[in-house]
Amino acid sequence: TPTIGVLALQGDVREHLVALASADALARPVRRPEELAEVDGLVIPGGESTTMSKLAVIFGLLEPLRERVRAGMPVYGTCAGMIMLADKLLDGREDQETLGGIDMIVRRNAFGRQNESFEARVEVAGVEGGPVEGVFIRAPWVESVGAAVEILAVHDGHTVAVRQGNVLATSFHPELTGDHRVHELFVEMVRSTRS
Ligand code: GLN
Repeated sequence: TPTIGVLALQGDVREHLVALASADALARPVRRPEELAEVDGLVIPGGESTTMSKLAVIFGLLEPLRERVRAGMPVYGTCAGMIMLADKLLDGREDQETLGGIDMIVRRNAFGRQNESFEARVEVAGVEGGPVEGVFIRAPWVESVGAAVEILAVHDGHTVAVRQGNVLATSFHPELTGDHRVHELFVEMVRSTRS
């Protein structure tokens, strides 16, 4: 059974821990470099990416996170987590740091303001059994991707799920629904990386 961390600086950490556990992983929060060193994969939750990036600096996690991503650790980011995994941002804060990991440009708050949050059924490549219920909360979209990036889902003409190697990102929040198929896909990615 793989051990999968959830970056626990800010955001909907608990929901991801629950989703990972029901997808058959050992799930634990990661706040310190020593905890990061012990996981086989990592989820970066939804929340507020500017706050998350500030806290990553304060907790001394920014460089250790970048190093693990570079070294090929599987990572899955939802919403703010997707923003953290972008090589480049549009409408990011001036001093906002990302980890990078996916050769993509992500537009923050692309779908509009908090009160324009919505749900939609989204077909995700690699997820069997029909569309997932996508919860979009002040969500980003992927503006453009490099050649190595696989587009997994599109909503309203905008890319909302991508994968590059071991790094997966969605604009929406599967952890907020009872449907854990996207987490199962990620746990499978972690499993196949370990063996
Ligand atoms: N708008 C947030 C940000 O820019 C992301 C929102 C979310 O994670 N639900 O970080």
